[in-house]
Amino acid sequence: MADLSFVYGTMESGKTTKLLQDNYNYCRHGHKTILVKPLIDTKGGKTILNRLSDKKEVDFLLGPDESFLDLKHLHAIEGAKVILADEAQFLTTTQVEELWQIAHIFDIQVICYGLKNDFRGIPFEGSTALFGFADHKTELSVRCECGDVANFNARLVDNKFTRDGDVVAIDGEQNVSYVPLCSDCYLKYVMAGDKVQEILQRKRLAKESK
Ligand SMILES: [Zn+2]
Repeated sequence: MADLSFVYGTMESGKTTKLLQDNYNYCRHGHKTILVKPLIDTKGGKTILNRLSDKKEVDFLLGPDESFLDLKHLHAIEGAKVILADEAQFLTTTQVEELWQIAHIFDIQVICYGLKNDFRGIPFEGSTALFGFADHKTELSVRCECGDVANFNARLVDNKFTRDGDVVAIDGEQNVSYVPLCSDCYLKYVMAGDKVQEILQRKRLAKESK
């Protein structure tokens, strides 16, 4: 039986590459695949694009008020073996619930790929819903610059780390970029203006005086 899976990780953990690879494998075996993306992700327009410049056109973009159960979408999905959803952190809770229903009622495999948490460390709505509804979860990891496993998507604006701004600011637009960091580096670099720095400094001094 088909089910709903969630493949998640930080930026640069290879989520979209995995999606394109999974799509290739299904197509190679002659299966119909449906590629979808939330409309809010403006990167790449109607295409799903990874960092290696592999790309694939989506079958449809879904606005925040749209339903996967709309007749036009159900019609598009008909006969598909699998639905692959990119940037799934931007789906609404209702849309995730609909995908779970599609998987189990229509016996169509659904795989969602997305980020776990935003630049402040807080889980996205779509990711929270997927942690609840997904039958299977797979974490993809990438290393922080220090070598530890990254857990945060730190936001850079004009090359400076920040914890301010809108939740959604797309990579590469308006001088915004992201870098995957481990917890220690996130504390050290991103929470620079915080009480945290004082504590870290005290800890360093205590260590040195030993
Ligand atoms: Zn680190």
